[in-house]
Amino acid sequence: MAEYSTKQRKALIRFLSVHPDELFTVEQIAEGLSEEAEERAVEGKAAESGEGGGTAGISRSSVYRNLPALEAAGLVKRVSIPGRREVFYRFKGSPSCRGCIHLSCRSCGRIFHLGSETSAKLAEYVSENGGFTLDRTDTVISGICAKCKSRNRNPNRQT
Ligand SMILES: [Zn+2]
Ligand SMILES: [Zn+2]
Repeated sequence: MAEYSTKQRKALIRFLSVHPDELFTVEQIAEGLSEEAEERAVEGKAAESGEGGGTAGISRSSVYRNLPALEAAGLVKRVSIPGRREVFYRFKGSPSCRGCIHLSCRSCGRIFHLGSETSAKLAEYVSENGGFTLDRTDTVISGICAKCKSRNRNPNRQT
């Protein structure tokens, strides 16, 4: 049983890690995983990986059951978007996100990251001027993204 849930957890991490900075509901994760499992089955990779069926067995409820552990391990962050009832999850452990400060749009909920160089400069600036050392990996700055900003500026234009 324990081994089974480890397998599910690995599949979850694998799925999330190829989609850094994207927000998923539990439903979307479960759907994505079963699509991935189908693709693997078609390509015959399930047998090759030695996992005997790969991710085919992951249901929505097991995604629900496994997310808290990933959250506790600091790999996944729960995100809520104003005006949306669903809870979203974002993967924090992606190598491409290492050392990057993230930006979260208050309007559409999308997450972006600043390049590690810009992030380092920003952290340096804060450190020199505020005497505060930012935890870059954990920092999410809230605001409005360029897309939402231009949409707000042209309220008559429907996208
Ligand atoms: Zn990122
Ligand atoms: Zn936005």
